[in-house]
This record gives sequence, structure tokens and C-alpha cells, in this order.
Amino acid sequence: MCDVISQFSGVSRRSLLGLAGVAGGAALVSSMTAPAVAAGDYMKDLGNARDYHTRLALLGTAAGRTFWGGTERQGISSALAVGDAVYLIDCGDGWARRYLQAGLGTQKEFSGLEGLEGVFITHMHSDHLIDYPSLLIFGSTDGLAVRKKPVQVFGPGSRGKLVPLSPSATDTPPVINPENPTPGISDMTEYVYQAYAADLNDNMRDSLKPDPHTLINVSEVVVPPGLVVNPDVDPAPPMEPLHVYEDENVRVTATLVKHPPVYPALAYRFDTAEGSVVFSGDTAYSDNLIRLAQGADILVHEVIDPRWVESLFPSPPTPAQEAKIHHLINSHTSIEEVGVVAENAGVKTLVLSHLAPADNPKNRWLEAGRSFSGRLVVGDDLMQIGIGKRRR
Ligand SMILES: [Zn+2]
Ligand SMILES: [Zn+2]
Repeated sequence: MCDVISQFSGVSRRSLLGLAGVAGGAALVSSMTAPAVAAGDYMKDLGNARDYHTRLALLGTAAGRTFWGGTERQGISSALAVGDAVYLIDCGDGWARRYLQAGLGTQKEFSGLEGLEGVFITHMHSDHLIDYPSLLIFGSTDGLAVRKKPVQVFGPGSRGKLVPLSPSATDTPPVINPENPTPGISDMTEYVYQAYAADLNDNMRDSLKPDPHTLINVSEVVVPPGLVVNPDVDPAPPMEPLHVYEDENVRVTATLVKHPPVYPALAYRFDTAEGSVVFSGDTAYSDNLIRLAQGADILVHEVIDPRWVESLFPSPPTPAQEAKIHHLINSHTSIEEVGVVAENAGVKTLVLSHLAPADNPKNRWLEAGRSFSGRLVVGDDLMQIGIGKRRR
């Protein structure tokens, strides 16, 4: 149903051969430790990717609020292309350059985003949004202004109240923006426009560029009233998937997932004529996600290595370190659990992304295959997976 397509000519096939057998028979053809991307390298296999009308592109595969110096992985971001229409999931560090490198838009100056139909933000953690301003501010120059209709952006609304103070806290930190300390995607968008007011006003008045509000339409995913009584207690109670968006290419549904203390944290499912892809966002083991992902062709799921968490701090950890360990373990899905999620959802292919840590050895991630009978793929930046029939 789907094929993994390499993106780098500098791929180490030798190391691939050593891993493929562990992954439930997966025929992996992917970039390994992604080398520095030289012009032309990433273009070599784009012809293969374009053989598929529908394809998944991993743009960035790293987790967390850091640049991960020493690896080539960019921050978390993925895209689903159906023909020339592109749907972007999260806007982590460097997504826009990866988008162009993946051949999702033309690589000419002052263009590239003409095909971007929708953007789907999973939650308000900055590793999923750090380059959202790139879309809002550079977007009009790079293709949005020539689109016939605005890009549709979907994301979470406000949490409604501050997260509880960690029990490990020794004092109370100040509150940033106390009149609105937990903005959702709509307010965040307006804050970005305010922060860049000097540039935007200059661009609109002096260069007669369009108001970005006319190019980008932002909506918050509405959680049914009364479903979540207290996000501090249960941010993701059992629920049926929500309808989010539909056009001639995709039908998008979403569910709340378990990423405490974040609320709302969303996973998205895209159903197309040629197959279905689910993006977990950040979550611990989630029954809602398993429901959303039932029978999907591809599940792109986050993963964390508990051994890495254990290695982060000396023993005994300080209160601040304790709080960090608590978040990492309780808000993410371990290597041991992620295969169980995929197995219980009955998906055909599990793609690991949002890797924490970004520089873990591949063999460690492949241990997820022990509890999953389908095909396991360890994601790399610019890996593409064709969905459905090859066109030629
Ligand atoms: Zn994250
Ligand atoms: Zn997160």
C-alpha cells in the first residue's frame, strides 16, 4: 500500500541492510544519519516521490525545545501531499526549507507555498510552532499571495487556565502575559502579527503587499462542551473523533490525546482516496489515538527512549530535574509502548518521528518492532512514503 522513498543520494545503504530485518519485514529504503544536504542530493529521488499522487513527507523528525546540535534532524513537521495540494502538520524548526527540499513547492525565488491548502497544529508546545511565524510573515512573499483562496490553519484553542505548579517547585515563577497566559492558535497568530507590526505595516504600506489576514484563515478545533471538566485532572477523556476539515482531497478528523499538562493536545487523521495517515502529535499511550487510528495505512507516532531520560541527570536529581523527568516519562510514548499502540490500532505501517533524543542509534528505535506485526519505519528528515498506486 505504501513505499518508502529515499531522499538522499548519500544514504548509507550498508547500515540499512543491518536494520531492515528487525522491522517486521519492512523494505526500508531511507536516509540513515542524514548527511549535510548538498544541492542536488535531495533532488535525486524526487522523481520517485512524484510517481505517487499521494505521499507522506517527513520534514523534521526531532522532538523538543532544542536545536539538537550535532544532528541533522530539524524540528517536528510533516506533510501529506495529494497531487499538488499539500497539508502541513506542525511547524517545527526549519519546516519551510525542508518543505521546498521535499519538492512540495517550486524552488524558485519568491514562491513555493502555492499548493499549501491546510496547516494542522497539534498543540501549543514551541517545538511544534517555533517556525509558525515563518508561514505568517514570509508566506505572502513565498506563494500565498497568488493562491485563489486562503490557507486554512487549524489548531488548539486556549487551555483556559495556567498549568498547575509542579510539586517540585521551590518558588512561584512570574506569569508571562497574565491577561492571556495560555493563548490558543488564534490569539497566538494575532500576537505574531503584533510582534512583527513594524515589518508588516512597512510591507503593506510601502510595497503594497496584502494583509496576511486575507491569506491565512485560522480556526480553533472545538472540543465538545462539557467533555473536559478539568484539564488538570483528565485532559483527554474517551471521545469519538471530531470532524475538522474536508475538501476534494482529504477528510480530516481529530481527537484529544494525553500529553499532560497540555490541553488541548490533538492527533489528526487524514483520509484520502488512496489511503489514510494519522499523526499522533505528542502523547502518552492514548486509547483515543488508538480509536482514531483504527485500520489506518500509516501511523506517524512520537516516541521517547526511557533509557535516555534516565541518563539525563545525575542521581539524585534536583527538584527541577525531577519535574523534567516526570514530564518526559508521563507525557510521551516509550519505545516499548509505541509498537503496542500501532498493534492495537491495527495500522499497516508505523513511522516513528518526533524522536527523543534526536541522536539515538537506529537500532534502539527498532526495538519498537518487538510488539508490532506490521511494517516499522524509523523516520528521517525528507523521507517520503508513497501511498496507494504508483502512477508510472
Ligand atoms: Zn513535541
Ligand atoms: Zn509537546
